[in-house]
Amino acid sequence: MATKTESSEQKSPAEATKFIYHFGGGKADGNAAMKNLLGGKGANLAEMASIGLPVPPGFTLTTDVCTYYYENNQVYPEGLLENDVPEALKTVEEIVGKKFGDPKNPLLVSVRSGARASMPGMMDTILNLGLNNITVEGLATRSNNPRFAWDCYRRFVQMYGDVVLGLKPTNKKEADPFEVILEAKKEELGIELDTEFKVEDLKDLVSRYKIAIKEKTGNDFPEDPYEQLKGAIGAVFGSWNNERAIIYRKLNDIPASWGTACNVQSMVFGNMGEDSGTGVAFTRDAATGDDIFYGEYLMNAQGEDVVAGTRTPLKLEQLKAENAVIYQQLEDIRRKLEAHYRDMMDIEFTIENGKLWMLQCRVGKRTAFAAIKIALDMRDQELINEAEALLRIEPEQLNQLLRPIFDLKEKQLAIESGRLLAKGLNAGPGAACGRIYFNAHDAEDAAKRGEEVILVRIETSPEDIRGMAAAEGILTARGGMTSHAALVARQMGKVCVAGCGVLHIDYQKGQMTVEGKSVVLKEGDYISIDGSTGEVIQGEITTKPSEVLQVIIEKTLDPKDSPIYQMYDRIMSWADKHRRLKIRTNADQPDQSEIAIAFGAEGIGLCRTEHMFFGGDRIDAVREMILAEDEAGRRVALDKLLPYQREDFYNILKVMGDRPVTIRLLDPPLHEFLPHEEKEIRELAEKLGKSYDYVHDRIESLHEFNPMLGLRGCRLGISYPEITEMQARAVFEAACTLKTEGVDVTPEIMVPLVGHVKELELSAKVINEAAAKVFEEKGCKVDYLVGTMIEVPRAALTSGEIAKVAQFFSYGTNDLTQMGLGMSRDDSGQYLPTYQKLDIYERNPFEALDQPGVGRLVKISAEDGREARPGMKLGVCGEHGGEPGSIRFCHNIGLDYVSCSPFRVPIARLAAARSALLEVQG
Ligand code: ADP
Ligand code: MG
Ligand code: MG
Repeated sequence: MATKTESSEQKSPAEATKFIYHFGGGKADGNAAMKNLLGGKGANLAEMASIGLPVPPGFTLTTDVCTYYYENNQVYPEGLLENDVPEALKTVEEIVGKKFGDPKNPLLVSVRSGARASMPGMMDTILNLGLNNITVEGLATRSNNPRFAWDCYRRFVQMYGDVVLGLKPTNKKEADPFEVILEAKKEELGIELDTEFKVEDLKDLVSRYKIAIKEKTGNDFPEDPYEQLKGAIGAVFGSWNNERAIIYRKLNDIPASWGTACNVQSMVFGNMGEDSGTGVAFTRDAATGDDIFYGEYLMNAQGEDVVAGTRTPLKLEQLKAENAVIYQQLEDIRRKLEAHYRDMMDIEFTIENGKLWMLQCRVGKRTAFAAIKIALDMRDQELINEAEALLRIEPEQLNQLLRPIFDLKEKQLAIESGRLLAKGLNAGPGAACGRIYFNAHDAEDAAKRGEEVILVRIETSPEDIRGMAAAEGILTARGGMTSHAALVARQMGKVCVAGCGVLHIDYQKGQMTVEGKSVVLKEGDYISIDGSTGEVIQGEITTKPSEVLQVIIEKTLDPKDSPIYQMYDRIMSWADKHRRLKIRTNADQPDQSEIAIAFGAEGIGLCRTEHMFFGGDRIDAVREMILAEDEAGRRVALDKLLPYQREDFYNILKVMGDRPVTIRLLDPPLHEFLPHEEKEIRELAEKLGKSYDYVHDRIESLHEFNPMLGLRGCRLGISYPEITEMQARAVFEAACTLKTEGVDVTPEIMVPLVGHVKELELSAKVINEAAAKVFEEKGCKVDYLVGTMIEVPRAALTSGEIAKVAQFFSYGTNDLTQMGLGMSRDDSGQYLPTYQKLDIYERNPFEALDQPGVGRLVKISAEDGREARPGMKLGVCGEHGGEPGSIRFCHNIGLDYVSCSPFRVPIARLAAARSALLEVQG
């Protein structure tokens, strides 16, 4: 109980823990491996400094400070701000030869947040800190550039006012008071760009800003640099718990406990004139993965001007033409970084008077296509090996290769008929078609109603994240490849077309027009966007299966003609080399099974038999069976069902050939097969030659208050053994027929919902007797197994007993989760969202296996089962069998296979390989 307090008491004094790490100027206390402590930004700044890249000197306040701050009622470790930070600043002062707060030669710093995982745009950076009415003059004189000094000051007061003093409205609809002042000033002067302001204008803006600050906060703008610094550090740590950050963490599974680091770094200036500038770049194309240097920059600009969308940034190629020397420096750094990190990097740089400085690098976010292409290319370039290449591709990213694309002919026709509205940046590949919504809330609501949605915004901001998550695609009028919309869309795997400048979006009217065209598109109208080409097309365009599907299933595309298929195929073949888990599929139809095999399924892990009961005339026989008065009556009906079942099993077993097929006996409560409307009941009574009242009463009598725990699963066959007998017979007859046709099948018959070994014993007896009879009748024998689904907690806990009878176990993790957690999946919508908001279960337990609870049941069962029956076959057939985290768990506890829906088979193959590779890595 007391351990937590004890350990934090021991660790709390500033002397005991190192809270400050230096980087730059020939120093690097940290390195890239220290992300947990230094945050991604701080760790990589240290790493870049240590490999000799030019990094402005500074220091990182660790995430421990953040943790301490939140654990101690927002108080810092003792002496940190009073002594340690000033001392650290002194070190920086010595390196750069400037002094913080010095009236003649002031050191200015940026204060930057940086968490363990990158959270783009989630937290705010303050630049030019240390300026006040006195130091600004020093900067002006020293730089011999008053305009530059006042531009810095103007920016600083604005950022400080917004971020630290809280003037920035949290609500997007309200305008930023500083922007209002800035726009008013531009209007007064009749200018458009910030760069057109003169010194006098900037001075005036600073004083207007300060008045606004006084009005809104009641306090003066702090002139004391140390006070400014304290405020900024507080804002960084405070921003860890702002709403944007919390939403982002939720969406990206980032625990609140990680905390952020805070970097204090000497400023370099991109706004010193035309030989200065700032930019962002990817060492490869983040959208296509191509091995080209992709970036954007602006001369005479600072900080996030490039991504703010106020001025349109230039392409890096242009820098090559305009300043070959700097471009070459950058190109060298690009290669050096890739060779060092062995990955595609995302960098931020600033040029100050012709000298290049690195301000950030991190592993670059990329589309699924790019992730795959880069992993394969880097393997070919021998930067990484095959195993690393697999670890670079998130299993879910494969989904994108399997995503629909536009029907090319239809798209061509649409374009020829003039429906091409615009061409923007191809920021997130794939094809999406849906109804237009202009704000995130409406988009979210529409998606909830089941509509396909395209979120259309002038530009996006973190407030739009939920709307973006709900949309099929995102279209923006402003912003480049590194804009918020583009970054986030790529990360979410959304189709995105960004920076479509010809669109004029009017939020008020809920409509948009297109420059040079007469169309007006309103909310709810259809639009199609191609995130691979940037095309925006009016109206609907049919989407088509991915190239992979065209090759492997439709067989309409030659593998040679599809580089995408070739990538897919290489990854899959590598994955198969490394994985230990087998991958099966859940399928009960021959065509589904064919798709699954094409995707690499090695068997069926779950063939549900109830779906087979619904088709055509079968349902009549099923109902007759259920409503029969006695066993004799049931047998009459079951005899009618037998041929259907036999044919179903024949077809599916034939498709699967010698691959194992697990067939589950009838599972659902019988009332699911019965009609409930009076009209239907009357019809049924007539068909069966019974009275309405009889049928009605029988149906009533089957009603259960809690059908999930009612007469279902093995209880059906225990109550009515002739049902099991018929199903087993159908399987064995089909298997014998196939055997005589030369197809050697091995059915695995699975008894559902067993909780007690006797339930399985009774069921197995019926199955084995049916087998013996059929084999004798046919004069033919097939190998088969009888096993059970472990889906009742009692079964998991008595698996040692059950394994004496069961020849295999398959974990039905859907029911095991329902019963293990005491939650009905289909009713969980009432409270699960609240649960997730409150972080009760880290992930939705019906999507990602609850490892400490349900997973533990599986583990106990697997161990006990294998002890009783060494080498027994164990698999998972719940939805979790297709979820990468759950697959890793299954791998780690030594299961033999996972089974998932056909379309997730490739994802499971890759996830299984990664699990094996990660196990080796430890
Ligand atoms: P984010 O986490 O949003 O990327 P950053 O901390 O990287 O925020 O800051 C945003 C931008 O501010 C940087 O890309 C860089 O252009 C500028 N910046 C930050 N620190 C400095 C600095 N010390 N000197 C010059 N520019 C800086
Ligand atoms: Mg930022
Ligand atoms: Mg940055």
